[in-house]
Amino acid sequence: MIKYICNQCSTTYPIDAIRYRCDCGQPLELQKSEIGFPIDQIARRSNTLWRYREALPITDEALIISLGEGMTPLVPFEHPTHDHRLKLDFVFPTGSYKDRGAAILLSKVRELGVREVVEDSSGNAGAAIAAYSARAGLDCTIYCPASTSKGKLTQISMYGAKLKLIEGNRAATTQAVLQTAESIYYASHNWNPFFLEGTKTVAFEVAEQLGWKAPDHVICPVGFGSIYLGLYIGFRELHAQQVITKLPRLLGVQSAACPPIYTAYAEKQSQIERSPQTYETLAEGITSELPIRAEAIINAIRETNGAFTIVDEEEIKAGIKILAAKGIYIEPTSAVIVKAFDKFVAGGIIREGDLTVSILTGSGLKATDKLMKLDT
Ligand SMILES: [Zn+2]
Repeated sequence: MIKYICNQCSTTYPIDAIRYRCDCGQPLELQKSEIGFPIDQIARRSNTLWRYREALPITDEALIISLGEGMTPLVPFEHPTHDHRLKLDFVFPTGSYKDRGAAILLSKVRELGVREVVEDSSGNAGAAIAAYSARAGLDCTIYCPASTSKGKLTQISMYGAKLKLIEGNRAATTQAVLQTAESIYYASHNWNPFFLEGTKTVAFEVAEQLGWKAPDHVICPVGFGSIYLGLYIGFRELHAQQVITKLPRLLGVQSAACPPIYTAYAEKQSQIERSPQTYETLAEGITSELPIRAEAIINAIRETNGAFTIVDEEEIKAGIKILAAKGIYIEPTSAVIVKAFDKFVAGGIIREGDLTVSILTGSGLKATDKLMKLDT
């Protein structure tokens, strides 16, 4: 039987509809039963993330909520000296990888018999939760900062979700939703561990697309860490089941505007300290001043021999243009990986002959307003 567990104080709880954190205040993880990867069977299944169903925490297949998500393309980046491949993880129904988390989380919500959810998001996660709630026929309310771009708010409300606009910064929005979460299921992409059970499937896909092999490195943008931790959980499960023989090094990228994880990494701190955002960055999807799962991120860096770097605004702009010139139109948050790759090469972390996969997390169509102003 699957349970919640707190890695801070070791308390376990049954999975229930209202609890979203430990009584000690820490986020919860899942204590799982046996999982499996029947590789021959997986190869014959449909091209969605549900092909890994033995590793997913949904018991009743009839309750699965799906829009056919998953198995996004993995394409070469055509680098002159290095084998660098791009996982186009924005090729999803709502335009971002957050659909991985939303599909698993909303399927779990249906299993629990819940009819109503709340979430707070300034963008892609809100759209994903709203879309899959619509698909599941659930009532959904999304709390957003009042400053959220009209385009993102339109996508969320088109799915039929109720919008609550909160004045003030992103933290004020979270504060507002936490009161509601006392009585309504909190479908949080940061607090709810079932969300990470979805994002971990990117690791399964990368391994399968490489012939059930781990790359040497995986690079991704990191704010709260839902893709970074998904990669960590996913590759660990593959390794524990001896499907792959080593863990890839997980390389994270933050914006110089708000780099709490990078700072902890660079200064060899054992804890991540709050890092107030110093300027408005194009990479708005990764501006977390203090990630909720800070402890887990530190563990993931340590266990995978991972590394972090930062990029500035000019480097983000350059990344957008370099990718677009190769036919890949992505939102600025994803573009951080391009110059970060060069920095990891210059720092001797990525070497010639290594195989690196970078995760591109959101479509450029999500950020038309920002991309229109790129050269002004
Ligand atoms: Zn605890």
